[in-house]
Amino acid sequence: MEHFEPYDADSPKEECGVLAISSPGREAARNAFFGLYALQHRGQEGAGIAVSDGHAVRVHKAQGLVSQVFTPEDLGPLTGSMAIAHTRYSTTGSNSDRNVQPYVIETMHGPLSLAHNGNLVNTDSLRKKLLEDGAGLQSSTDSEVLALMLAATKGETWEERLRNVMPKWEGAFSLALMSAGKIIAVRDPRGFRPLSVGKMPVSGYAVASETGALLTLGCTDIREVEPGEIIVIQEDTLVSYPDPGKPQEQARCTFEHIYFSRPDAVWDDLSVHSVRQKLGEELAREYPVDADVVIAVPDSSMPAAIGYSETSGIPYNEGFVKNRYIGRTFIEPTTELRKQGVALKFNTLPENIRGKRVVVVDDSIVRGTTSGPIVQLIRDAGATEVHMRITCPPIKNPCFFGVDFGTYEELLAYKMEVSEMCDYIGADSLGFISVERMMKALTKDDGYCNACFTGVYPVPVQLSLSTSKQRFDGVIQ
Ligand code: SF4
Repeated sequence: MEHFEPYDADSPKEECGVLAISSPGREAARNAFFGLYALQHRGQEGAGIAVSDGHAVRVHKAQGLVSQVFTPEDLGPLTGSMAIAHTRYSTTGSNSDRNVQPYVIETMHGPLSLAHNGNLVNTDSLRKKLLEDGAGLQSSTDSEVLALMLAATKGETWEERLRNVMPKWEGAFSLALMSAGKIIAVRDPRGFRPLSVGKMPVSGYAVASETGALLTLGCTDIREVEPGEIIVIQEDTLVSYPDPGKPQEQARCTFEHIYFSRPDAVWDDLSVHSVRQKLGEELAREYPVDADVVIAVPDSSMPAAIGYSETSGIPYNEGFVKNRYIGRTFIEPTTELRKQGVALKFNTLPENIRGKRVVVVDDSIVRGTTSGPIVQLIRDAGATEVHMRITCPPIKNPCFFGVDFGTYEELLAYKMEVSEMCDYIGADSLGFISVERMMKALTKDDGYCNACFTGVYPVPVQLSLSTSKQRFDGVIQ
């Protein structure tokens, strides 16, 4: 059944969330369902759970939200104490049933299930090689390429095969794998995407893209899966295989802090909520303005707006009420409702805005489709001035590591200077935090990917520039 998105926010979209559970002696599917629910924000196009009882693997997956994909009747047959799960937003591969994960394939070493977050930058050549070798590909995603390559690699164990094949994969991958008797988790050596592991309440372990999902499951002793580390979980035993190679420069995605992760996530030993608050504080120092109230575009910008308020001394108040449940739906909106755009998602609180000079804090401007309507909503509520402040630098370059802005031509900041963007969205002023101030808020000098802001890619990527109908293919180091 087709899904509709009545309101499509102009925020970047993450490829997906992954989860794995080993809970010896207990059914894993129900925990996987609730863990997946806590990762719903990382992908709303498809969801799936694969479960193993040590012999057989059973999987249920489909397009839609977690709550739409799973009923008690769907979960019932998923018996077994090990599970991996996935929630998807498509950046590579179209959004169709066959691209929904986990993938489950039969191999000469037994069944293998795979759930992937991230994006490889050399998928085309890997896919070509697989096809030349006679592999039959069923989906259009790089995740299937990962599964088939892993199955075909030499090695006595899955962890050995994984270690042998990893050097061929360039780009971002945080993976949860399940064989008949083991859960295996791994992050690429640069650590683009997050992945954490924790101890389940009674026995066993769980792995998840975000620590919030592990807390939902009641996990303790939570720690990050290190870049390049392979973790093998068998029943109640966890074995770690650190990256044996030369340490690579790390490239954590800064956007996890700015927008993707839930505020209760802890990543790189940093609380995402605290980072966002500090981003607001730095933004207030970098782009101060005389105003009467600071408001946030909910939800991700609320800590930053509080930080801006505390540093500037301008009172914080709520300016919007958000309809939190307007995700994807089976019901097609009417043309009139579609025209309402942001008004479908946000109502203003005019009593907090009327007659005031307003600072509105948002996390990003990608394509520039919603900032103008948001400014207009604030003006319609009676603001005398609207000053927009953004907690990331202008996004001028595409992302190739699992985020959905893949071309220059779709990026507003690639096409316009900040002053032109300000006119375009109809604000009285517009200020983006600089890369330097952003990293100060993160309290880090390096170890992060900032390629979409700076154009400096941590791994070589093939750039296809089609702006102005020009075509340029080059490699940027
Ligand atoms: S290019 Fe931007 S969105 Fe992509 S991984 Fe790097 S920081 Fe994240």
